[in-house]
Amino acid sequence: MTEAPPIFPARSTCFHHPQREAAARCVGCGRPFCRECVTPVERRMFCASCYKAQTGVRAKTTRDWFIVSIAGQAVLGLLGLWFTAYFLGKVLLELPSNYHEGTVWQKYMP
Ligand SMILES: [Zn+2]
Ligand SMILES: [Zn+2]
Repeated sequence: MTEAPPIFPARSTCFHHPQREAAARCVGCGRPFCRECVTPVERRMFCASCYKAQTGVRAKTTRDWFIVSIAGQAVLGLLGLWFTAYFLGKVLLELPSNYHEGTVWQKYMP
C-alpha cells in the first residue's frame, strides 16, 4: 500500500540503452532502465528479466494457492453440509417410533 515510488536516478542511463537516460530503477536488481525497458507490476518497476521471474514464479504460486484455497473451502463446505444433512437425517430416521407415544423414557429406566 505504502510502496515508495520508483527512484529516478539523476544521471543514470538505461542498462540496455547506454544512450538513453534511465527513467526508473528495477526493484528486482536495482539497475537503472529507460521507460521501454521496465514493466510496472503492482506500481513497482521491473526490468524484463526480473518481470519474467516475478510473473513466472510468484504470480503463479499465488494463483495456485488461491485456487487450492477456494477449492478446499468449497469441498470442506460441501462436506460439512453433507455431514450435517446426513447425520440429521440419520438421527431423524433412527428416532424410535415410540418416541411420539411418550414412552421412550421407559427404555432408560431400570
Ligand atoms: Zn531487474
Ligand atoms: Zn532501455
